[in-house]
Amino acid sequence: MVDESRPSASVLAPFVERPDRAAVVLDFDGTLSPIVDTPADARLLAGAAEVLTALTRRYAVVAVVSGRPVSFLEPLLPAGMVISGLYGLESVREDAYADLPGAGAWREAVEDVVRCSQDRGPSGMVVESKGLSLTLHYRGHSDLEPAVAEWAATQAARSGLVVRPARSSLELHPPIAADKGTVVEGLVADTGSVCFVGDDYGDLPAFDALDRLEARGLHVLRVGVASPEAPEELTQRADLVVDGPDGVLDFLRQLVPTPDADRSRDQPEAMTNGAAGSRQ
Ligand SMILES: [Mg+2]
Repeated sequence: MVDESRPSASVLAPFVERPDRAAVVLDFDGTLSPIVDTPADARLLAGAAEVLTALTRRYAVVAVVSGRPVSFLEPLLPAGMVISGLYGLESVREDAYADLPGAGAWREAVEDVVRCSQDRGPSGMVVESKGLSLTLHYRGHSDLEPAVAEWAATQAARSGLVVRPARSSLELHPPIAADKGTVVEGLVADTGSVCFVGDDYGDLPAFDALDRLEARGLHVLRVGVASPEAPEELTQRADLVVDGPDGVLDFLRQLVPTPDADRSRDQPEAMTNGAAGSRQ
């Protein structure tokens, strides 16, 4: 089997050599945070805060783009990052908070579906309200999937919200053109290199955005996070596949060379030891 977990030096070079012109964009759950049974218990992987802080000091853009609300993510992430929540419906950058135009008008419809789902939804389904969207979870109860899917479709039809598949869950969103792809494209103006790291269906639009940016001449790197639940399309389309959040952390550390690693770049023989050997 090809070792896809180690990026080649040439793939990383545009990032490491010109971080001032590079963007590092990451999903949160399953990428920077191990998957947990109770969504509210998710936390940043140990050691990730230090690496992210080091990235923010070097890179033009370091961002988390998640289906979670900003209010959940912000206390968990170090300062200096751009945070885009609810697939781009809300964001915070340098302490400036913003809702996507038009999103706020759907808050009432979301609240109504949340209440209705809590009162009358399939038994065992967990309802997570996110303000401008909601998530219907069936983690640990895969037998519930058909009932949750039917419930979500019914609620979408009556409310005007739209259903999006996610990991062991379905999400209901306002019918607004916002996804991780639109967020990525909005973030990377003036950069020459962009990488996106994700583990789930909702991350595929970000890979689509990287396809478009690549066609415009940017250097892009699609990083898929492998797990038993990762969609096959994600790992197939990835330029680099890493193993779980621990693998993400290893990858991020390679974007922030230590002084020793900087010195080793002048010594080609040192590069043959582990730093090369990707699918490239
Ligand atoms: Mg995820």
